[in-house]
Amino acid sequence: MFNPLASFLGMFSQDIGIDLGTANTLVAVRGRGIVIDEPSVVAVDRLSKRILAIGAEAKRMVGRTPSSIVAVRPMRDGVISDFGVTQRMLSYFIRSVQERFGAAMPRPRVVVGIPSGATEVEKRAVHEAALAAGARSAYLIEEPMAAAIGASLPVMSPSGSMIVDIGGGTTEVAVISLGGIVVSKSMRAAGDAMDQAVIGYARQVHNMLIGERTAEAVKIQAGSAFPLDEEGFIDIRGRDLATGLPKAVNVSTVEIRDALSPVTGEIVRAVRSTIEATPPELVADLMLHGIAMAGGGSLLRGLDRRLATETRFPVYVAEEPLRSVVRGCGEALEEAATLQAVRAAVASRKPLR
Ligand code: ADP
Ligand code: MG
Repeated sequence: MFNPLASFLGMFSQDIGIDLGTANTLVAVRGRGIVIDEPSVVAVDRLSKRILAIGAEAKRMVGRTPSSIVAVRPMRDGVISDFGVTQRMLSYFIRSVQERFGAAMPRPRVVVGIPSGATEVEKRAVHEAALAAGARSAYLIEEPMAAAIGASLPVMSPSGSMIVDIGGGTTEVAVISLGGIVVSKSMRAAGDAMDQAVIGYARQVHNMLIGERTAEAVKIQAGSAFPLDEEGFIDIRGRDLATGLPKAVNVSTVEIRDALSPVTGEIVRAVRSTIEATPPELVADLMLHGIAMAGGGSLLRGLDRRLATETRFPVYVAEEPLRSVVRGCGEALEEAATLQAVRAAVASRKPLR
């Protein structure tokens, strides 16, 4: 029913959802959609430890700046490796949203998606960082739960849903039912590991050194996890390890797939072992509704078909998979019931490590 008072207050409330990802940070403001989508990168002066840039600007500086500037990815491993830098990054993003919408507005309520492997200390650090950055209140939600909500899975229903969120630093696999995570797994086999696999392949097979950005581009353009309808070739440019001179090699998509297979294989095994640990009633639901994939890594070509073939479950990629978590955070704010349940679920679970 239309409630004029709620609608009036809603105009002025400034609730925001934040996906603090290992590769990308996204911020959604209620009623305005996604307003920030930037790499989770901070450029720091090595000597003075001063922060020089955050987000896209910091990523642009990587490898192109004097060696005294280092690019830090404070969430890289799915846990907060650098509290101070994470707090500064979070504050920066919250503040820039506030600046954009005017300081006259009330302080925002914030929902932050954090990796399910985060420890109590890390959770507290994120919570405090959000408050220190000016949030009126801050709630934490586990990423797989946020991803599932954002992928429109029926998280509150008794029926089981599975989400496989493949990010940069971590892949999170979870089965959700009645608003809680029933079984979950978090591991390092994700986008960064794929990039490293391409780097390792170039070094071992072609005696060539390539950078992380080149490796990522090769993965996105020519990587796959299942035979392609049309295999092709790509030029990889780097430096010859023997001569130190620039070098280019032409490699097939089949070779890149082979190079990626240790990582894609590990993702498949994790999904299978999560299914094995899932109560049978919920497995029956998964067979019916399928497995949803989210995160940038889910865009690797053929990964959905590979998972479907190896699990014999229907598998699909969520709509806009890079945005599932931030969408879920935003929706959690709107649905008080979901939020309460999610908080209870988070509170009742022990950290994974
Ligand atoms: P996080 O949540 O950890 O910040 P994201 O969900 O933003 O991670 O995904 C980032 C990862 O997705 C990076 O490793 C990136 O290389 C990878 N990625 C993005 N697009 C594609 C694509 N089309 N194919 C394969 N990998 C991709
Ligand atoms: Mg993510």
